[in-house]
Amino acid sequence: MHYDGIVVGGGPAGISAALTLRRRNKTVALFTGGLEDIPLYKAKQIDNYPGCPRISGRELLETMERQARQEGVEIISGRVTALMPMEPGFGVAAGQDFYQCGALVLCTGIAPAGVFPGEKELLGRGVSYCVTCDGMLYRGKDVCLVGFTGQTEEEARLLEDMGCRVKVFTQQGKKYAVEGDGRVEALTVGGERYPCQGVFILRPATMPDALMEGLAMDGAHVAVGRDMSTNIPGVFAAGDCAGKPYQAAKAAGEGNVAGISAARYLETKE
Ligand SMILES: Cc1cc2nc3c(=O)[nH]c(=O)nc-3n(C[C@H](O)[C@H](O)[C@H](O)COP(=O)(O)OP(=O)(O)OC[C@H]3O[C@@H](n4cnc5c(N)ncnc54)[C@H](O)[C@@H]3O)c2cc1C
Repeated sequence: MHYDGIVVGGGPAGISAALTLRRRNKTVALFTGGLEDIPLYKAKQIDNYPGCPRISGRELLETMERQARQEGVEIISGRVTALMPMEPGFGVAAGQDFYQCGALVLCTGIAPAGVFPGEKELLGRGVSYCVTCDGMLYRGKDVCLVGFTGQTEEEARLLEDMGCRVKVFTQQGKKYAVEGDGRVEALTVGGERYPCQGVFILRPATMPDALMEGLAMDGAHVAVGRDMSTNIPGVFAAGDCAGKPYQAAKAAGEGNVAGISAARYLETKE
């Protein structure tokens, strides 16, 4: 499936970028892990988002998503697992599905726990973010599933159905580390070691540089210019993933700028 723009993230930044791309008559798909995984969903009352006094986070997000659908944004519930340059645009992998686009806008929020020691080094060597894509590789083997999202139970069942022996961890406060010399050998959780061949990690937000190789970061955030462009031409970032302060109105504003910049980029390619 090909779109002009693909937006990763269904929070205020992603919705705003997608709406802006639609205003510029671009076809847009937006990927989201689900409303309940967005931090704002838990906010009882938001008092500083203009035009929506005393609104709950849930109500604000539901309104935003409805508006995006009404404006022709295709909303796809699913976790993006990899992004890659693919001349003349980009490829987006989500589970077993593959999509293409001319420009990308990353609005993935922040991963509060950061990455675990060993995670990046062993990504693709036993560490995976996608049960559907990689679960079958561990049929008959021991795997650990670290899940901080609403889909954890379902994904654990899926791994079991695939024939994996699964240990599930859901506690956010514990210290996790992935161990192995070239391949995953164990997961340690709060100092206790669990030998395994695979470690699946499900977070509400994925670090953007784990999704796209070569993406320049500034600490924990994507490095962006004032037009929300990244170091990769055609890739833009907005919202919490692009820097502090972590605020919904700032995220929506940056999403708007990223949407305009992405539309301009697409128009230079026409
Ligand atoms: C309890 C609480 C209360 C808050 N109250 C306020 C407030 O009153 N006012 C205020 O301005 N701000 C508030 N905030 C902050 C606000 O929630 C954030 O600043 C804002 O949501 C950031 O928007 P965003 O679009 O950048 O990212 P997020 O809203 O975090 O959205 C990230 C999106 O990316 C998706 N995503 C991530 N990785 C992937 C992937 N690999 N594939 C597919 N989708 C992916 C997620 O599913 C989600 O849809 C509050 C936050 C919390 C936790």
